[in-house]
Amino acid sequence: MKASDRTESPRTSAPSVPDDRCGYVFEAGDSLSTEGDGCCLREAWDGKDRCKWHLDADKADVLREDDFRDETNLVGGVFRGSVLSGGDSLAGRRFSSGDFSGSDLSGVDLSEADLGGANLANADLRDADFTGANLRGADLTDANARGATFEDANL
Ligand SMILES: [Zn+2]
Repeated sequence: MKASDRTESPRTSAPSVPDDRCGYVFEAGDSLSTEGDGCCLREAWDGKDRCKWHLDADKADVLREDDFRDETNLVGGVFRGSVLSGGDSLAGRRFSSGDFSGSDLSGVDLSEADLGGANLANADLRDADFTGANLRGADLTDANARGATFEDANL
């Protein structure tokens, strides 16, 4: 056994990111925010290795609509299984490449939101408002979009 065998698997984070920060690296092509240099510098959530947005987990008991109030750049976020139905507006947020599989987004205002390449498989999109939203490349497999509005949406 070589000494090098015990090296830990490398983090995918950028090397300059402190341990208590998320460090999610935005993929090339994602629209980057002005803060942060291509990676997420939000605090890691609850002792995990990612912030609450990028943590790869079921978010049913994690995310609340209130949390979205001051957040606009949520590129690559994991919202899997979250229940966001019918409350605050999520209009205009950047959710590209996000994972909303199995989420309840019924009645949510997602107008002008960027959902390019997002995973909306099995999501509940009933009566959601996607007016002017970008859904290019989004996966809507088995999503329930009954009553949803897609006026001027980019599909
Ligand atoms: Zn993050």
